[in-house]
Amino acid sequence: MIYLDHNATTPLHPRVAEAMKKFLDQNLSDSNKQDFGNPSSIHGSGRSARSLVEDARENLAKCLSVHPTEIVFTSGGTEANNLALFGAVASGKLSGRHLVVSSFEHPSVLEVFHKLENENWEVTWILPNSDGIVEVEAVEKALRPDTALVSLMAANNEVGTVQPIQKVGQLLKSRGTLFHCDAVQAFGKIPEVFPKVWNVDYMTVSAHKINGPKGMGALYLRKGAPMAGLNLGGSQERSFRGGTENILGIVGFGKACEIALKIQDSRIEGKDLAQLRDELQKLLKEKIPDLIVNGENVSRLPGTLHVTMPHSRGDLMVMSLDMQGIAVSAGSACASGSVKYSHVVLSMGKGKDAAASSLRFSLGLGNSRSQLPLIAEK
Ligand code: PLP
Repeated sequence: MIYLDHNATTPLHPRVAEAMKKFLDQNLSDSNKQDFGNPSSIHGSGRSARSLVEDARENLAKCLSVHPTEIVFTSGGTEANNLALFGAVASGKLSGRHLVVSSFEHPSVLEVFHKLENENWEVTWILPNSDGIVEVEAVEKALRPDTALVSLMAANNEVGTVQPIQKVGQLLKSRGTLFHCDAVQAFGKIPEVFPKVWNVDYMTVSAHKINGPKGMGALYLRKGAPMAGLNLGGSQERSFRGGTENILGIVGFGKACEIALKIQDSRIEGKDLAQLRDELQKLLKEKIPDLIVNGENVSRLPGTLHVTMPHSRGDLMVMSLDMQGIAVSAGSACASGSVKYSHVVLSMGKGKDAAASSLRFSLGLGNSRSQLPLIAEK
């Protein structure tokens, strides 16, 4: 199988798997290491588990260039997005009742804003341009004196376009408006995803997009940013997320961060992926003359290639490629006989035909140059 769906999820890095296996072995009652303790317990077994959690937190904090106490571990990007937004609102400390969000966010952000809108928060939805970029001017235009919070993703999961987060952050900081950024797709894929440099108050990341385990993520929560925990109970994660920690997931995430940090420092992997992506794009263009590459002229994630193939159906192409051993993804899908169009492509003003005939190739660990001609051939 050729796996080209790394924006959906990624395989475990072998060193992540190794770290997780080692942890599992040490969880057995006859192991003399006994890391299976509860990190909240004060005995040796608990302290041993606590140090695993804190080591991982430090690795993630290093990647984001933040203080470890600003990290809240969660069950993934979805929970971190929910916590950031519902938690900020539940704090009762927001400065107004107006919120701003882009209309091509991930559903774990969109659905939160729909719910808040139903609860009488005023929401302004901003559209990206036809290249898949939310312009700073569009954010500025949406702001009002009572705007309390803006949410904008760092990179879009379908088209892969990288948003001008730092510029938006500057704008919002000058007005004292809170800023949430869903960085699930950008983190570990582009250099310097740094919330403090970007002036972001809440930033979401997820382990399974960077060759870590599924069901594991985190929220960067700026010290002092308004927040009320949603998981009430224990005082874990500084009471922002009660519940005994998923140490296996945390160990895996910590290792994935350590690896990502090395890649970030050398930036080798990113360059390689962009080269592979561009080569695949060239091959596909040669094969399909009317191919449209979305986001071609703007900043994109190195491994993402999003195309529209006029007169073809994205969901049918996904099935046909799957039968030939190639895993890709389409934002639109046929459900119960009717086509569910990609909200991302529609929000870029591309129309239903383009939304139905788009395909995403997302490259990552395990892909190589030798696979490319095969993909273009199919
Ligand atoms: N945000 C974005 C941009 C995503 O692409 C995803 C996953 O696809 C999520 C949030 C949700 O993350 P998780 O799968 O860890 O809940």
